[in-house]
Amino acid sequence: MEIAVIGGGASGLMAALHAAWEGASVTLFERNTSLGRKLLVTGSGRCNLTNDEVASNPYTCGDPAWLKAVLDQFGVPELLETLKKIGIPTYKTWDGWYYPLSNSAHSVVDAMTHAVQAAGIKIQTASHVVDIALASDGFRVSFIFNNNSHLRNFEKIIVSAGGKAYPTLGTKGDLYPIIAKLGHTINPIKPALAPVLADLGDLKQLQGVRLDFGTALFQGSEQIASTAGNMIFTDWGLNGPAVMDLSHHIPDPPGDSIALSLNLLHFVEDEFNALLSQNRQKQFPVSLLLSAFFPPKVVKAYTYLASIPEDKPLNEISDQSLNKLINKLKDTRLKVKGVRGYKYCQASTGGVPVDEVSSNSLESHMHKGMHFTGEILDVVGPCGGYNLHFAFASGAIAGRSVSKTES
Ligand SMILES: Cc1cc2nc3c(=O)[nH]c(=O)nc-3n(C[C@H](O)[C@H](O)[C@H](O)COP(=O)(O)OP(=O)(O)OC[C@H]3O[C@@H](n4cnc5c(N)ncnc54)[C@H](O)[C@@H]3O)c2cc1C
Repeated sequence: MEIAVIGGGASGLMAALHAAWEGASVTLFERNTSLGRKLLVTGSGRCNLTNDEVASNPYTCGDPAWLKAVLDQFGVPELLETLKKIGIPTYKTWDGWYYPLSNSAHSVVDAMTHAVQAAGIKIQTASHVVDIALASDGFRVSFIFNNNSHLRNFEKIIVSAGGKAYPTLGTKGDLYPIIAKLGHTINPIKPALAPVLADLGDLKQLQGVRLDFGTALFQGSEQIASTAGNMIFTDWGLNGPAVMDLSHHIPDPPGDSIALSLNLLHFVEDEFNALLSQNRQKQFPVSLLLSAFFPPKVVKAYTYLASIPEDKPLNEISDQSLNKLINKLKDTRLKVKGVRGYKYCQASTGGVPVDEVSSNSLESHMHKGMHFTGEILDVVGPCGGYNLHFAFASGAIAGRSVSKTES
């Protein structure tokens, strides 16, 4: 059986491998001159492959039951087994994030590329697919290679062309209109896992500070989403997992009512309260209390916000002032101005809705023999390996099923 896989990223590589291991004759199309370009930049070059917490709930997906069915078929053990098979041993951090033992995304791409070659997959790099059409015996793929147009027919096709994030790495979203032309819905595409543009106000002086926070997104008085994790203050706003995970919930344009609440005490509240009560009646400067948990710039900014001199002892601070400080630490609101665009975000949301695709095979309900995998589907997870896991899982399932089902 002749199968085309469009896209040599995480999900396309996994789909091609599994299809070839099942005996299919696979051609892998990739517009870049090499495979796995985006994989190389993942996890800051370390490639955060998956996460112990992979399950449907951390993801944003139109149908959590659909996603659960996918992840039940190809969860963390199945992924680790496949990675091991192709020569990628892994380790996990204390909080359950998996990386290659090499700590190198290059080693992941090299091992996957070698496995693809060893499986006899025809690698068609520097080939830009410009059209997919239905043919009497399957699908006709039009692509540009060496500045010339080519046409090839395949019995089945797996579309693994990714989303719109980081377009310089090949993902420009140019297949969305072609898929729409074939009758599929394309849910609106938006940046996800994006840095957040915010008015830092009195926290402007925190530029460069990196901390673990709790964060919540508010529309007026309604909380839309929340998370916790690492974050850094920049000259245009906030970056890091704790805000990136919320970014796809920010409307475009955000309007006047979207605000981000920062909770600095999220991870340390018990310890903070203990140190406070131990010293509340003592000549213990408030700056010492704060600096037990936060860097000097934070101490300065938050004592200023609460109008308390830094060196004021705790036993001389009124309950009212202390409560003001604690409230600021737990809930400082910043006006959100938007998110940074596709050039800076790690994923996009939107794309083919999951209810148009089978969770057992990733096959289109509209066109038999056509499968979708990875980010081209309307599924997005938080930082932590969730998006690569979904890309790998959907790719593996599509690859395995494509050569089994009748054409
Ligand atoms: C900077 C950065 C860091 C990230 N870090 C992590 C991380 O550590 N962990 C994690 O889980 N996720 C991470 N992600 C997200 C993750 O990389 C993606 O979710 C994942 O790569 C999606 O896999 P995919 O196969 O669907 O798409 P991609 O990996 O984007 O692959 C799609 C491929 O299709 C090719 N293509 C597109 N259109 C065509 C066409 N018309 N013709 C031919 N080829 C085409 C593209 O060139 C591309 O190679 C990160 C993303 C970025 C940008």
